[in-house]
Amino acid sequence: MPDYVIETPPVTALPVANENGAFPVRRVYCIGRNYAAHAVEMGHDPDREPPFFFQKNPNNLDTSGVFPYPPHTSDVHHEAELAVYLKSGGTNIPLDEALDHVYGYGLSLDMTRRDLQGEMKKMGRPWEIGKAFERSAPAGPVHPVAAVGHLAEGSITLKVNGVTKQEGDLNQMIWKVPEMISYLSEYFELAAGDVILSGTPAGVGPVSPGDIMELTVDGLDTLRVTVE
Ligand code: MN
Repeated sequence: MPDYVIETPPVTALPVANENGAFPVRRVYCIGRNYAAHAVEMGHDPDREPPFFFQKNPNNLDTSGVFPYPPHTSDVHHEAELAVYLKSGGTNIPLDEALDHVYGYGLSLDMTRRDLQGEMKKMGRPWEIGKAFERSAPAGPVHPVAAVGHLAEGSITLKVNGVTKQEGDLNQMIWKVPEMISYLSEYFELAAGDVILSGTPAGVGPVSPGDIMELTVDGLDTLRVTVE
């Protein structure tokens, strides 16, 4: 090991459900517009166009159950998403081998400063300021495939203060989990520790301090996050 000249940055790691141990995070990829009804609500054509991805930072993932309302925005939106956790990777991964690289699944929120994202879109600029801010990805524990299997269908629901805001089914994803893995691996070298947020169903909307968000996916538990 080299002698690091500054304090070593901590590794972000998520707890594994019902087991000891933690999942260390390497990269976070997020797909845009992966449910047709959400593409329509954002003003886009729901036809299957090539997928596109943006990234969050590993340490944007946060399992504290608290989402601090971020600065420089007055329009922070919830996006309920299934997170996919990889145990291995590579390049040019064939579709029929893609799921072999999945360690597990979990609940996550792709919190978005929608006003800033909108300004960046208008100017043709990158989205990070709208997407990759501190604690912008509240997440639950990682559920190993060995315990929950592969999740290709089942309801995904988000409630705010007990009122259902987002409702969809994992089978409505335009690009399925194996397709996302295979496609990403053509452009990037995937590896153990990579995370894919798989897109959000329709019904995204704003939250305010004091709100309680509850995300549920069939086969997993419920993630409860308080906006502060
Ligand atoms: Mn999203």
